[in-house]
Amino acid sequence: MRTRRPFVGGNWKMNGDLAGGVELAETVSAGSREAVMAIDMVVFPAFPYLQSVGRALGHSGVALGAQDLSAEANGAFTGEVSAEMLLDLGVQWVLVGHSERRHVIGEREELVADKLRMALDSGLRAVLCVGETRAERLAGDAHEVVARQLRSALSSVDREEWDRLVIAYEPVWAIGTGVSATPADAREAHREIRSTLASLYDAELSETARVVYGGSLSPGNVTTIVAEPGVDGGLVGGASLRADDFLAIASAIARAA
Ligand code: PEP
Repeated sequence: MRTRRPFVGGNWKMNGDLAGGVELAETVSAGSREAVMAIDMVVFPAFPYLQSVGRALGHSGVALGAQDLSAEANGAFTGEVSAEMLLDLGVQWVLVGHSERRHVIGEREELVADKLRMALDSGLRAVLCVGETRAERLAGDAHEVVARQLRSALSSVDREEWDRLVIAYEPVWAIGTGVSATPADAREAHREIRSTLASLYDAELSETARVVYGGSLSPGNVTTIVAEPGVDGGLVGGASLRADDFLAIASAIARAA
């Protein structure tokens, strides 16, 4: 049975400028020599900075990721960025279905599924983000919402493709709010996700799939969350914009491994 290599991603969102992104990448690269031996580390800058940040990462072992991709291969899709374009820039990973794309931009589940298909067909590695809103949680629907998002996005994903796929459980109410899920909440959600994977695939896949937590992760709360069984690391937003915090989170995840 495959062991689960921990993962940490830094989602920079639409923040910073070119010089700041390059400096952040250089500092993260320099400080991550030990962590990259034990875990997959990825940063996700905005599209215009991908090439420069990729150069700054160099051969550090920290991988380059994009925050989104088009579901289309090429053509008349003004403003979109294709998987091939990302590969041209040295991108290895891509976020798919981030809650801001689902709930702010309005991406529907069918589009998320098409984007995931495009990413995997193109040879990219993908982080599929799932998670419930506060209203869905209060209504007692959290597990069903996440299961529905998984069923929809994974409908065409074969088990052979799972070595290029990470699931990020990101409760929408925890993203950017400073209020993370409790370790118990995270444990419960990850258990439910693995149970959905067992029903979609089988018990072995549910045990070997990588599932990480995202939502207000910080150096102060990461250790207890990643100590929970079934939590294989984190997707980090705000704290990934500060090199010291991101490196502290990565080290905590590497230690937990
Ligand atoms: C995210 O956007 O994926 C995220 C987890 O953000 P934050 O860490 O800021 O909550």
